Amino acid sequence: MNLYQMTLEDLEKYFESIGEKKFKALQVYEWLYQKKKTDVDEFTNLKKELREKLKEDFSFKRPEIIKREIDKDVQKFLFLLEDGEKIEAVLMEHNYGLSVCVSSQVGCNMGCAFCESGRLKKVRNLKVHEMVLQVLTIEELLEREIHSVVIMGIGEPLDNYDNVMQFIKIINHPKGLAIGARHITLSTCGIIPKIKELSHLGIQINLAISLHAPNDELRSKLMPINKAYPLKELMSTLKEYIALTHRRVTMEYILLQGVNDGESHAHELATLLRGMNAYVNLIPYNETNHLEFKKSSKERIDRFFNILKQEKINVTIRREFGSKISAACGQLRSKEV
Ligand code: SAH
Repeated sequence: MNLYQMTLEDLEKYFESIGEKKFKALQVYEWLYQKKKTDVDEFTNLKKELREKLKEDFSFKRPEIIKREIDKDVQKFLFLLEDGEKIEAVLMEHNYGLSVCVSSQVGCNMGCAFCESGRLKKVRNLKVHEMVLQVLTIEELLEREIHSVVIMGIGEPLDNYDNVMQFIKIINHPKGLAIGARHITLSTCGIIPKIKELSHLGIQINLAISLHAPNDELRSKLMPINKAYPLKELMSTLKEYIALTHRRVTMEYILLQGVNDGESHAHELATLLRGMNAYVNLIPYNETNHLEFKKSSKERIDRFFNILKQEKINVTIRREFGSKISAACGQLRSKEV
């Protein structure tokens, strides 16, 4: 077992199971996440014996950063995992602080037509520590605190539900990385049963839905998941989610020139969302090897935005980050090619 996959409660149980006091768990957590020590022998408030026991019982292996690309306010990190697979994480500098975009799977099975990350089918889920260490390693490297985490890298987080929830617990814990729940955003293509589960957890994270189309016909063409979980059910699930969590949901909408960015689409989207505690985040498309899709022109983006405004829908346009180093949404890959 890797030490970085343990919640504080897991560690407390571990210490109790070996006849130790459970407050040791808190001490270990402080070394790992606050003092950021990577060598157990530096955990000086633990007896030598106990340090040896930890070394026997846990693995401390970390994904290794094998490439780092920097472009102004964005950096991309390529991580090598224990089994030779590779994933990417992206660091963004906002005016309010640093944000890390983490991957949740190697590859992705969702097959969205416009997305680069899904070109490699899912190889496996990321383990808890592989997600925790994307954030922690970057934080250590920069020696600056990470303000927020978005689970928007490679993979569908709700297709790796248990590990992602455990990851969130660890980074959110005040004695862990202490990233506030409201600074954690999970983005999903809309796996309804898991959204339902999430709505009962009582955590305050932000939920973002990759919507990208205002009707089933178009959405099913762009996102195969829509055939399993069509819009009507998705919308009623989200209304239930909002009622239970009292949280606003973000609707991500990539603007694809001539595909989903027309005036009628904007009106249709407004009708779909009317009365819902949701806001739309319009995403200028980052061009990929899916050559059939083009970024909408500035005029079309502005027109779409203005229609939503007139329709009294809350809307923002996502700031563009990192397309030069292919670190932008939908450009991350599992395999370096
Ligand atoms: N699987 C999850 C998490 C990935 S999030 C999800 O679908 O939400 C990545 C976000 O970037 C999603 O909203 C995705 O639809 C969007 N995206 C994918 N390809 C893109 C591209 N080329 N340009 C802009 N956004 C893209």
